[in-house]
Amino acid sequence: MSKTIAIVNQKGGVGKTTTCVNLAAALSQQGHKVLVCDFDPQGNATSGFGVDKSRSPSVYDVLLGNAPMSKAIVSTDWADVVPSNKALSGATVELIAMERREYRLKDALEEVKAKYDYIFIDCPPSLELLTLDSLCAADTLLVPVQCEYYALEGLSDLMYTVRLAKRSLNPTLELEGVVLTMYDGRTNLSMQVAEEVKRYFPGKVYASVIPRNVRLSEAPSHGKPVLSYDKWSRGAEAYEALAQEFHNKNKA
Ligand code: ATP
Ligand code: MG
Repeated sequence: MSKTIAIVNQKGGVGKTTTCVNLAAALSQQGHKVLVCDFDPQGNATSGFGVDKSRSPSVYDVLLGNAPMSKAIVSTDWADVVPSNKALSGATVELIAMERREYRLKDALEEVKAKYDYIFIDCPPSLELLTLDSLCAADTLLVPVQCEYYALEGLSDLMYTVRLAKRSLNPTLELEGVVLTMYDGRTNLSMQVAEEVKRYFPGKVYASVIPRNVRLSEAPSHGKPVLSYDKWSRGAEAYEALAQEFHNKNKA
């Protein structure tokens, strides 16, 4: 059974793409068939896997119905990737007049879904149409939360959008889990934020916490997930543990 997971948080720079690339790569290394759909015009997940952002067709062409999903998929050493680039930013306007505009991504993924155990959608930092499309395509959402001041700000807006999407567009959408990112165990702040997030999402916060680790921020400039860039780094170990925990929860 294939499962589609949208990685969402409208706050920028909280670790969505880092989580998408490294969780996907770790699951793939653990033997699962994984597709990453870059759904952000910034194309960071695309370049994080060393895929050329100017590659066409991209997710934009697929969304507009100009290419099938299967033609946009690029195989990498770690996972299959649907590339994205800045063309996608124009899609919001072009989609407005289209039929089933909230379901374009869902419909496009149908063709390839059966080939994968997990499909991850890396979302842009907004709650606009692109994110709505990803919430419609997804079975669940995974929310990275950065362990810093104001971390919880915006989460209520996110959960409100999710409730609306659930009510009117995708009634079976569920919260997969919440990942604490850029955790620094030496600071009281990180510990306080972690406690607050656990109170806000009881039972949904992964025990595997992602530490602040410079290898995680260096890996994308080499076009590799961290487990290839520096397998023994704390960042790589953290995402491997998260992948185990994620899969165990899904097996249960
Ligand atoms: P955006 O909202 O712009 O898409 P994002 O939520 O996808 O951002 P990332 O791009 O994953 O966030 O991370 C933001 C920055 O923080 C990047 O430079 C990334 O390399 C760095 N970063 C992410 N996680 C960590 C970490 N655990 N340790 C150190 N640096 C990190
Ligand atoms: Mg990102």
